[in-house]
Amino acid sequence: MSLTITLNDESASLAFAQRLAGALTHGLVIYLYGDLGAGKTTLVRGILQGLGYTGRVKSPTYTLLEPYEIGGLSLRHFDLYRMNDPQEWDDAGFRDEMNGHNILLIEWPDQAGDLLPAADLILQFDILASGRILRMTALSPKGEQCLSHL
Ligand code: ADP
Ligand code: MG
Repeated sequence: MSLTITLNDESASLAFAQRLAGALTHGLVIYLYGDLGAGKTTLVRGILQGLGYTGRVKSPTYTLLEPYEIGGLSLRHFDLYRMNDPQEWDDAGFRDEMNGHNILLIEWPDQAGDLLPAADLILQFDILASGRILRMTALSPKGEQCLSHL
């Protein structure tokens, strides 16, 4: 199952993220693909805002992980762009975050090799002259359930 939408500007991305926030369930694993500046972090920011988060959403560029407890959900926002050694994974204790309960939103998932759990949902951003195209693909029943609730 897959779904493609056009997001004409940042506010469209934030509005869509808000809808996505309402369709999240415990343990969902989401891989976010797209070039630098494609809008991955913007989507995560919109999801968090949709769940009621009012703080600043920092890109975990250097920390690799930013954790959030909001709206009854445990979200873990990863940006693995700067991870170059899988050993960092264990050293940082990330293994414990893959507990089947946390919702994982992962930018640059390929950097983790096979350390990550399989994705329920893949979100692929492509940059247009103005705006973005977002293609969402469900890879599990859990992922399909999420898409069907949008
Ligand atoms: P990434 O995390 O993929 O590197 P960011 O979300 O940090 O990208 O940055 C995306 C940039 O593009 C931001 O400047 C944001 O304002 C802008 N942006 C986000 N969504 C859209 C959209 N749908 N259309 C146009 N610009 C967008
Ligand atoms: Mg980012």
